[in-house]
Amino acid sequence: MNNWRQQAACREDLGHDPELWFPDSRDATSIARAVNVCRTCPVIAECRSFAKDTGQKAGIWAGQLYGTDRTPDQLIDRATHCPNGHRYTPENTQWSKRNTRRCRACMNARSARIRAGEKAGA
Ligand code: SF4
Ligand SMILES: [Zn+2]
Repeated sequence: MNNWRQQAACREDLGHDPELWFPDSRDATSIARAVNVCRTCPVIAECRSFAKDTGQKAGIWAGQLYGTDRTPDQLIDRATHCPNGHRYTPENTQWSKRNTRRCRACMNARSARIRAGEKAGA
């Protein structure tokens, strides 16, 4: 019943690291890479059935991330800049526990304003 695996687009013999299909839910880059491979997969329907039938609780199957109620599209934050125009470099990005992205430059500016306000008010 596992014959579909021989046609899977994520096969290791095609050069894919199986770990990519078990990414950290904050790792948007890995999620996007795996999901993009699934989108080209000829056995995506078989993969989806297998994941459902076997009660998978984690990992990416058929382009969906199991173990979270968020879709890959919700997890893949495509924004390149914060609302104030700062670039989301890895250094300037902080992920919250709920996997939302925060801009360090904005957080630092906010803390500086609060400190300045405290001094002015003191
Ligand atoms: S749909 Fe994705 S996880 Fe499933 S076999 Fe294809 S590439 Fe692999
Ligand atoms: Zn910002």
